[in-house]
Amino acid sequence: MVPITRLTVAREPEHAVPISTYVVKLVSRCNLNCSYCYMYNLADRTYVDQPAIMREEVTAALCRRILSHAARHRIGGVHMIAHGGEPLLLGRERFRAWVERVRGALDEGGVSSCFTVQSNGTLIDDGWIELLAELSVRVGISIDGPKRFHDRHRVDHQGRGSFDDVVTAIRRLQAHRLGPGIFANLIAVVNTDIPPREMFDLWQLLDVPGLDINLPHANHAHAPPAGATSYGDWMIEFFDLWFEQNRPDRHVRYFENILRLLFGHPMSTDNIGGKPVGVVIVETDGGIEPTDAFKCCEHGITKLGVSVLRNEIDDVYRSSIVRTMLGGVSELCAQCRACELRDVCGGGYMPHRFSRERRFDNPSVYCPDLLRLIRHIRARVIASLPPDLLAVGSASSR
Ligand code: SF4
Repeated sequence: MVPITRLTVAREPEHAVPISTYVVKLVSRCNLNCSYCYMYNLADRTYVDQPAIMREEVTAALCRRILSHAARHRIGGVHMIAHGGEPLLLGRERFRAWVERVRGALDEGGVSSCFTVQSNGTLIDDGWIELLAELSVRVGISIDGPKRFHDRHRVDHQGRGSFDDVVTAIRRLQAHRLGPGIFANLIAVVNTDIPPREMFDLWQLLDVPGLDINLPHANHAHAPPAGATSYGDWMIEFFDLWFEQNRPDRHVRYFENILRLLFGHPMSTDNIGGKPVGVVIVETDGGIEPTDAFKCCEHGITKLGVSVLRNEIDDVYRSSIVRTMLGGVSELCAQCRACELRDVCGGGYMPHRFSRERRFDNPSVYCPDLLRLIRHIRARVIASLPPDLLAVGSASSR
């Protein structure tokens, strides 16, 4: 086995942001084999040594650690995201037992919890819909575009595309009387070979309120996949389609977050805005890790040497990678710190800043795309404001 890089240092960051979102790897295997998957098909191979599913003792330890962290930082509620691999591989009965156990333990300790599961959709049937609704677990489903594009990358271990199964699952959720209460979001990785109009039309056809679009995990050591157009151009075209549609029941979280940031909202997510976000991953073996997208950087980078079996959640604050994540603007490279869009972009997603030579002391590999996109959104918003409002704004800034 290749040795794991441990990145721990002795000091806690001065501004330790409480952890309120736990992405829990219930299953460390997947029934799909997507070509770009950061878990299994990029720089990191540590999944080979992970237990296939999370054991009982790890779940029990996780609950204890969440409660002690919540008590220390006075957190009243947490968001639990069941993740994988494919978390539905756990099976319905074990999934039910896990949710009930975690919710029960946190309730008893005075911490409320909400649950989400992120699925590739291929295993969803009526039994799963009824169980998720009964447990109040919301589900997000990944789809990467029209069939001919989706099936090029999101394939099973025999190389067969999964598009038809995913659309069947979406339609099943929409048709079931309990489905709309738990399902409102699609997740897609941007593929710049797909004409934005075609992606947008697919979204409208599927008729799902929310779409999360994510840039492919890449950085200065692992270049983004080349495509027909640049990522900035692609997202600008997609933004315009969404913006012009102007439907209050159609949400693209990435764009909505940029809009909030442009208006000075203090929010941030881990992929835009640059402010500290309190999220950690808990692996099937109990390992506590930073955002698992770091797996696109190099083998073993997420292995901090801390586990819910031995450590408190606060121990992640001693990791240099987590300190950088939580350091906000002060941890950005000189170019980002001086950038006119720093407080909106925040250097983009930290794993996308990685290079072997300078580690995270770089702008995002998507910097030119982010610059173009954010400037475009800013210009579109200003152009859409009524002239009298603009006049008030410029008078008050004089
Ligand atoms: S646009 Fe580029 S330079 Fe500016 S904050 Fe983002 S990544 Fe850094």
